[in-house]
Amino acid sequence: MTINHDYIIVAPATGGGGAIAIIRVSGPGSLELCDKIFKARGSSKKVSEQDGYTSIYGDIAGNDQIIDDVIINVYRAPHSYTGEDSAEISCHASPYIQHKILQLLISNGASPARPGEFTQRAFLNGRMDLSQAEAVADLIASESEAAHRLAMHQMRGGFSGDIKKLRKELLHFASLVELELDFSEEDVEFADRARLKELVKKVKAITDSLAESFQLGNAIRNGIPVAIVGKPNAGKSTLLNAILKDDKAIVSDIPGTTRDAIEDTATIDGILYRFIDTAGLRETSDRIETLGIRKTYQKIRQANIVLLLTEATDSPETIHNSVKAINDQIKGTGKKLILVINKTDLAGKIHLENIMETLCPENEANCIFMSALSDEDVAQLKLLLGKIIEKERLTETNSIVTNMRHYYALNKTSESLNRVLEGLKTMVPEDLIAMDIRQAIHWLGEITGEITTDEILANIFKNFCIGK
Ligand code: GDP
Repeated sequence: MTINHDYIIVAPATGGGGAIAIIRVSGPGSLELCDKIFKARGSSKKVSEQDGYTSIYGDIAGNDQIIDDVIINVYRAPHSYTGEDSAEISCHASPYIQHKILQLLISNGASPARPGEFTQRAFLNGRMDLSQAEAVADLIASESEAAHRLAMHQMRGGFSGDIKKLRKELLHFASLVELELDFSEEDVEFADRARLKELVKKVKAITDSLAESFQLGNAIRNGIPVAIVGKPNAGKSTLLNAILKDDKAIVSDIPGTTRDAIEDTATIDGILYRFIDTAGLRETSDRIETLGIRKTYQKIRQANIVLLLTEATDSPETIHNSVKAINDQIKGTGKKLILVINKTDLAGKIHLENIMETLCPENEANCIFMSALSDEDVAQLKLLLGKIIEKERLTETNSIVTNMRHYYALNKTSESLNRVLEGLKTMVPEDLIAMDIRQAIHWLGEITGEITTDEILANIFKNFCIGK
């Protein structure tokens, strides 16, 4: 690694506001640096003489002028977040005080931390692997119970333990195959082909299923995209307003979140949903009969779930045609359709039964008869949304991939393993098989950070906030 971390870094660790702010100091000599600007009250003990995990109360002063009374928490290597000697200075949250303290630390030799530099040090010092470090950023950015749960799972090791184990097993086989190459004259076989094949299949099954979980994981992290479509007056805005009514979304501007500008969002039962471009939808006069309109296409393309609103007063044929138009578009995409038959309060019982009979049995779509004006019905629709995204999958301990980088590496691993299987079948030369195994090993190593480049690290940590 070209990164040099024998210098001391400092940064505020808390956001603006509040009564107390924390300034983080980390690196060799951090505690001695604190001695230069801090004097304990009621004790002559210096910061650098304290044990790890102790707190000291005292004053920070510069040029004989007291700036604040603070508490310093002392951490000793390797038992700190970064794995280095570190201190956290809790001061009063005035921007002036924080600025003064940072200035004092910097004028005494510390450097301002880059975004994510504390976590990067934690990774480089072996306190966590790369996927855990990435989960720290996700945890800070998490806006819903489900996103929080996934980030927490990943931070606690998630699937990276499994990946490391599989990678080790593959490494073992790669070296056996490579050993054969050294003895190529003698035609020996150190690596049992049947066992190798079994292992490769096992690893591939795991990486495939992890990669497959990405669609859900990514949606949960960023909000599950839902398109509400339907002809004008079907009740789309009414329904959306009803959904948003008691659930004002937490729209964050936490530095370090990479999410794009979002539309209307709502957290329903711990899961964040993102209603796509609904404003645009309200403006356009697209008719469901002319679903060719590009806007609707775009909305549907971006969505995981399509809510198709129809009116209960429509004829079964009209509704059927609308469903067919949407189904034609989403066929084979994995997108789910919810057919909402709205305004049931305006339709007669017989008409509704007629719709139900003609429509629901032949449709795989999830049907809901409702009125957007009824709170109870809207609550039912919310339940249906949770069911559709297979909420139960989230409560299991299943590993779900939320990170694009991991998804990419998992797919690359699978590709390499496919080539290994193909090679074993067609008896290609050992050196080619060994190369493909090595590639799979490489991609697995990129997930956990056993293999990294400065570029990968820079890309990951640039999205962190300063102070983390
Ligand atoms: P949009 O064009 O699809 O966004 O439709 P709106 O949400 O603007 O609704 C059109 C009209 O239908 C409004 O007057 C709503 O109050 C009304 N509306 C929506 N849902 C229902 C419903 O379930 N029952 C009844 N009776 N009226 C509804």
